Amino acid sequence: MNILFMGPPGAGKGTQAERIVETFEIPHISTGDAFRLAMKQGTPLGQKAKEYVDQGLLVPDDVTNGIVRERLQQSDCDNGFLLDGFPRTLAQAEALDDMLSDMGKQINHVVNLKVDRSLLLARLTGRRICKACGATYHVLFNPPKQEGVCDKCGGELYQRSDDTEEKVGTRLDEYISKTAPLLAYYENKGLLREVDGEKEIDTVTSEIVSCLKGQAE
Ligand SMILES: [Zn+2]
Repeated sequence: MNILFMGPPGAGKGTQAERIVETFEIPHISTGDAFRLAMKQGTPLGQKAKEYVDQGLLVPDDVTNGIVRERLQQSDCDNGFLLDGFPRTLAQAEALDDMLSDMGKQINHVVNLKVDRSLLLARLTGRRICKACGATYHVLFNPPKQEGVCDKCGGELYQRSDDTEEKVGTRLDEYISKTAPLLAYYENKGLLREVDGEKEIDTVTSEIVSCLKGQAE
């Protein structure tokens, strides 16, 4: 079973992806890992990618696509894979279709974790860090005993500038506008499985699993 995993930051995508690959015994392929591996192994594409990364440049699509292709061709993907972080654009989605069809494969399911923007904002802006010792808290999930004060050392807690509502909101809006065409692309192909990511972690997992098992390949 070949699965694509999508969802905005804060939707719990990483946690759910780990559970799904365990359940179906397939490799979890993130583009970040595929890049690090190719660069570490020093493959021709890995070396090319490294040149861009070292210069702080965006890696062009043909290099990215090539690295994904090489990763998907490895034997651990024979019985399926869960791809995470790719494709990010329509052009990449089309390239993915082409490379899979060359391998006699196709994407079977595109799982999209849906979480309301306001809940994502609450999750993503809740982190607080101790100025003195660096301990981290979350106002919703791991609050300190006394608001604004570190449990461990009594230091003052602060919010990183990246975690403010304005910054996080911008990141979310960028994600939403970039992925909308991708979701439409997979919906048109009948592959999109929308899952409510606002529920309990275990409930979300079982809903994804039944979604994946319920729909024949
Ligand atoms: Zn502290």
